[in-house]
Amino acid sequence: MSSERRRRGLMIVVSSPSGAGKTTLCKRLLASEPGVMSSVSVTTRPMRPREAEGSDYLFRTEAEFRAMVDRSEFLEWAEVFGRLYGTPRAEVEARLASGVDIVFDLDWQGARSLKTAMPGDVVSVFILPPSIDQLKARLEGREGATPEGVLARLAGAANDIRRWAEYDHVIVNDDLDAAFDVLRSIVRTRRSVREKAGLGAFVDDLLKSAEGEGF
Ligand code: ADP
Ligand code: 5GP
Repeated sequence: MSSERRRRGLMIVVSSPSGAGKTTLCKRLLASEPGVMSSVSVTTRPMRPREAEGSDYLFRTEAEFRAMVDRSEFLEWAEVFGRLYGTPRAEVEARLASGVDIVFDLDWQGARSLKTAMPGDVVSVFILPPSIDQLKARLEGREGATPEGVLARLAGAANDIRRWAEYDHVIVNDDLDAAFDVLRSIVRTRRSVREKAGLGAFVDDLLKSAEGEGF
């Protein structure tokens, strides 16, 4: 018997102070968990070498971006370092409807906006460093780190950390493997929340089958 199991995807929103490890954890999830894809935002900033239209960002002019804002085509958008960035509603809707889970790497403001726009779909996860010393060491050890960049990120860390209570889940990223196990468990568990599991037709079929066999 073929019974329909049509699950709506999750919006997995991951935030952290810069350097706590959210990019590392998200990349690992994307690489190892089938059915999870990265979100693709629209931006007005120029394309960097090795970036591609459609996989890194959808690159648009400012006029095109503003027209999309006017047509309410974003779930959320923000200005970052003088450029515009936004999460396109239609792409997200299409992926969720096809059962794909989407990972969003967003700051607390973006996370808050997405939760307001899509309250039934967002699972939010905050990543904390095990200590400020570790955060500093990770920022310093990251490729391309400069002393000014490290200082600027450390200066912003407390403001980010204070938002931790707005999230559904919190992970202290001390041991990477352990932190990743928790992230993956969160995704797997949230897929089985009854309203998200898409098993209504499947259960109807099970019951019909049971009746058909006289049970
Ligand atoms: P974010 O995306 O939160 O700014 P990254 O994922 O870029 O942070 O991680 C910052 C640095 O810390 C990277 O060099 C990464 O390899 C390293 N890192 C991430 N998680 C851990 C961990 N659990 N233990 C040690 N180093 C880590
Ligand atoms: P970059 O230009 O380096 O790729 O990204 C710059 C910043 O823009 C990052 O902090 C990133 O989190 C943020 N950003 C990227 N896409 C979006 C988006 O769709 N919405 C919001 N609010 N911020 C975004």
